[in-house]
This record gives sequence, structure tokens and C-alpha cells, in this order.
Amino acid sequence: MRIAMIGTGYVGLVSGACFADFGHEVCCIDKDAAKIDGLNAGKMPIWEPGLDALVKANVERGRLTFTTDLPSGVENAEAVFIAVGTPARRGDGHADLTFVFQAVRELAKVIKPGTVVVTKSTVPVGTGDEIERILGEEGVTGVFVASNPEFLREGAAIADFKHPDRIVVGSEDEQAQHALREIYRPLFLNRAPILFTGRRTAELTKYAANAFLAVKISFINEVANLCEAVDADVQDVARGIGLDNRIGPKFLHAGPGYGGSCFPKDTLALLKTADTAGVDQRIVRTTVQVNDDRKAGMVDRVERALGGSVSGKRVGVLGLAFKPNTDDMRDAPSIPLVNALVERGAEVSAFDPVAREQAEKIFDGITFSPDAYSAATDADALVIVTEWDEFRALDLDKIAAAMRGKTLVDLRNVYDREEAEGAGLAYFGVGRGRQAQPA
Ligand code: NAD
Repeated sequence: MRIAMIGTGYVGLVSGACFADFGHEVCCIDKDAAKIDGLNAGKMPIWEPGLDALVKANVERGRLTFTTDLPSGVENAEAVFIAVGTPARRGDGHADLTFVFQAVRELAKVIKPGTVVVTKSTVPVGTGDEIERILGEEGVTGVFVASNPEFLREGAAIADFKHPDRIVVGSEDEQAQHALREIYRPLFLNRAPILFTGRRTAELTKYAANAFLAVKISFINEVANLCEAVDADVQDVARGIGLDNRIGPKFLHAGPGYGGSCFPKDTLALLKTADTAGVDQRIVRTTVQVNDDRKAGMVDRVERALGGSVSGKRVGVLGLAFKPNTDDMRDAPSIPLVNALVERGAEVSAFDPVAREQAEKIFDGITFSPDAYSAATDADALVIVTEWDEFRALDLDKIAAAMRGKTLVDLRNVYDREEAEGAGLAYFGVGRGRQAQPA
């Protein structure tokens, strides 16, 4: 099939490259000329495992092209995917659909009857209806609008796209269903479940999925707080409940709160949808509050571990990206933590394996270290914020020797207390019994 992908970000680029890999002819469009020039010169705009090779292979096969020129990209497409950003709107937090509607108005000028327009962006219930209305207003007829929310995870995006838990297609129209079935055919051969449903239901399904995962994370974070008060270990509690099939082991890792480009904005947008519909969503509302408080409270943990104040202390920070295997810094838990450390007078030296370039745009007044051991050098406390694999196998003796103080604040529970204490470090994990007394 001939596919146009409008928006070549984390989702558009991965989806476009994977569709090309399935054998389709894909044109990825973006209004960011620097991004497209870079891609045409073989430079990836994001850090995502395996993406570089996948893009290059499909460009070489002639199946994947990049352009800033929407009309030429859309002209011959049988399906046009919209994968532009839908960030939280300033002020009220609802999904900002400016980019989506801009793209729709642009494509309306060139789209041919029979084309399927598919929203891959995460958009509130009713957006498909609004797209249909705009297309009508622009004089477009005979076009089908479907919803196909994307569930990939950054850091594992290609594997997720090629082996999805499910594909959700929102359209009651037979032609649109047929087109999407053709597009995803290689995955059906692998028996990826496909759910055909109404467009509004598909739109809501994406928000419900993200909200549920956010609830799970906040739930275990609150249990972790309880563990600290009653001397229990949240790692074992999570394992003990996660082995129950009805609960499942995933998203039960206590930590510094969720961040990233999706959960924070999608939970807010769900609440806005609920407000508009006059239906309260108390669990999600509380989850947002719990998570905001959690992220804001991480600095207090570091402070407590350092005996009550971080002023004048040197703090090494390991990991800045919102999770491992990505350079995405959007709403990362590191942001409020590092900013608060600096505000409270700490000197911060941070290291992230890939997110430095993005992080430099966000943080002022911190030092970026070239590796974990440099970040630890002369530090009073070392804080693990993102659980990159390379932080799982640190030489703790070497870390302890490099540090000035001996405080390890492990916000991802990467290490065991015994291991850290064996290296002479005072260990402060999350939800792992009563905290060690500050040095
Ligand atoms: P992104 O910011 O990385 O990329 C969006 C791209 O769209 C940008 O490159 C921007 O320049 C481009 N763009 C905006 N308006 C345009 C226009 N009119 N014409 C052409 N290009 C335009 O965003 P993302 O992370 O890829 O997210 C895209 C959507 O997918 C969002 O709705 C998001 O919620 C959803 N989503 C994201 C993820 C994820 O992990 N990032 C996962 C699932 C769903």
C-alpha cells in the first residue's frame, strides 16, 4: 500500500519505518525541515534502539522517503496517517489538537476520494468526528476517517510495533477496515489480535490504557510508602501480587513517579474529557495528584538521606531520561528533582548515557559528567534516577572510593541493601523496609 505519515517524531518515524519494512511504500512528512534534512542525510532525530538500521535499510530499498512537502507526500497515498504531537494545552491541560487540525486542513487540499485518513496520534473522543467535519467544510468527499491509536513504548518501539499485544482500529466503515487490515496484514500472520470497534471507542481505549498503567504505578508507589513505615519490602510485595495472573507483574516497580511524553498528558486529557462529559474519574484524578506529589517529593528523600539538607552538598545524578533506552526528557522525574536540588543549594553533576543533548536544553547550573564514575567523584550522595542497564552493574567499591560521602539513593531499587552496604555505602532505596539512618 502507499502510505503517507504526517509527523515524523517518535511515533511517526517508527511506524513509517516499520510499515516500509512490512513492504509498503511510505512517505514520512514533517514540517520540521532540520529533521527531514537530517533524515535524508541518514541522521536520526531521536535515539531509539534499532531505528537507524531499520530506516537506512528501507530507504535503500526505495520504500521509505522523507519530505517537508505535504502535498507531494499525500498525493498518491491510499492511507494517510496523522502522527503529529498532541501535547497538553497550556492552561487547562486538555490535549492540544492544533497540530492535528492543521495537518487535516493541509491534507484536505490534496486528498483524493477513497483515501483513508487514520489518526495514530493520541486524540480525545470525538476528534475523528471533528476531522470528518473539517474535511467536509473543506469540500472533501468520499474519504474515510479511522482511529488507530498507537501503543508502542519508547526504548522498545520497533519490537512493540512489530509484535504488538493488539491493534485497535476504530471504524465501522468496511473500506477503512479493509485498508487497515491490508496495512497490518504481516502482523496478522503472526496472530496479533486486532480489535475492530467504533471510532470513539478506539479513541477512548488509548486513554484508558495509559490511565490504567499510571494507576498501577501510583498504586505501588503508595504501597512503597507504607512498606517504609511498617518495615516491609515493596519488591517482594510487588512480586507476591504480580505473580497473580489477574494482577500481572508489569508496571509494579516503585520509583520516583511516572513521566514521559504520554502518561502525564494523557491522564490530564482523560480528566478533561470526563469533566466535559460530566462524569468524574476519581481514580485517575487521584493518580495524577499522587504522581505529582511523588515527583515533587523525591528531593526530600535525598535531603533526608543527607541528614536534612542538601545545601552545599555535591549530588551525583545517574540517569536523566524519563526511562532507559530513550533520550526523551519530556516530563522526566529527573526534572523536578534536579531543579529542586539546585534551588536548595546542591551542586549537581549528572550523567545520562544518551539524553545529555536534550537535558542541556532543560537544566541550568549543573555539570554534565562523561560517565557514572565521574558523576560520583567527590559526591556526598549519588542518586540513581533512571535504571539504565549500565547502572545495574556499577563497581560499587569504585563508586564508594570516588565519593566524598557514602550515601546512595536508589530511586529505582537497582541494588540490594547488602550489596551497597558491603561497599561501605549507606543505602536508601524505595519502599524497602525502614530507611537506614542518615549519616
Ligand atoms: P513528536 O513530538 O516526537 O513528533 C511529532 C512530529 O509532528 C514533530 O516532528 C512535528 O514537527 C510534527 N508535526 C507537527 N505538526 C505537523 C504538520 N502539520 N505537518 C507535518 N508535521 C507536523 O511526538 P510523538 O512522541 O511521536 O507523539 C505523536 C503522537 O503519538 C502523540 O499524540 C502521542 O501522544 C502519541 N503517542 C506517542 C507515543 C510515544 O511513546 N512517544 C506512544 C504512543 C502514542
